[in-house]
Amino acid sequence: MRALQVRYSSPNGKPYSNSRGLASQDARANLACDIGHAVVSPRRAPSYTPTVQESCAARIGVLGGTFDPVHYGHLAAALEVRHRLGLEKVLMVVANDPWQKSAAGPVTPPDLRLEMVRAAVRGLEGIEASALEIDRGGESYTADTLAELRDARPDADLMLVVGSDAAQGLDTWQRPEDLRRLATTVVVSRPGPSRGRPPEGWPAVVVEVPALDISSCDVRARFADGRPVAALVPEPVVELVRTRRLYGCSR
Ligand code: ATP
Ligand code: MG
Repeated sequence: MRALQVRYSSPNGKPYSNSRGLASQDARANLACDIGHAVVSPRRAPSYTPTVQESCAARIGVLGGTFDPVHYGHLAAALEVRHRLGLEKVLMVVANDPWQKSAAGPVTPPDLRLEMVRAAVRGLEGIEASALEIDRGGESYTADTLAELRDARPDADLMLVVGSDAAQGLDTWQRPEDLRRLATTVVVSRPGPSRGRPPEGWPAVVVEVPALDISSCDVRARFADGRPVAALVPEPVVELVRTRRLYGCSR
């Protein structure tokens, strides 16, 4: 894998960097940034904001999810990571069958979830809805998705973006070793009880994103009992939920 050069910014925005563009000695005491991954110690993570040097190869973010429905938390994370890491684009990959979730309860059909993501990202530069897992069909394994993307874009470095809640379970996903091999893991902070990080020894870049305490689960419950959603979900998505009568929404 090509080296990912990462600079680390101090809280006041000044980068900790030396003439080689690498992190300063102080920062390097806590980091490794020479093998395509930056390891950020959880204790220090909020102090070091990774930004990526302009000379790097194209980088594509992969934010997978059920998006049932998509909300502003997803969009804020995608936009912030793209900006901070200088990504060409972030793909919001809609799971066809999110097997870890669908075992626990019903999930909205994938074409409707995709329609909502497409509506949500319209007009957002560099953020795209991806039907890759829906087109592949069956249970959705991120390792397969990364392999497909790597074959389609061998010139690009892939950045697997996960929320801090999902990060701690990465080793329960299919073929975790392929996830590590095919992409750099990027963990985005998520409000709530989970301050999760990837499993021990799993390299990751941590990016602080605007803390929006929004979950699809809560949004579904709000649609069901008529509580406000307008500040949580983009308007075109609200409209789709209403016209398709999703989540027990009675309009
Ligand atoms: P649910 O409540 O049904 O689990 P969710 O809101 O967690 O839904 P997912 O589709 O499961 O949404 O999440 C897709 C990805 O986005 C995951 O990596 C998740 O951690 C991340 N994510 C979801 N909500 C937020 C948020 N508010 N801030 C940052 N990341 C988020
Ligand atoms: Mg979730």
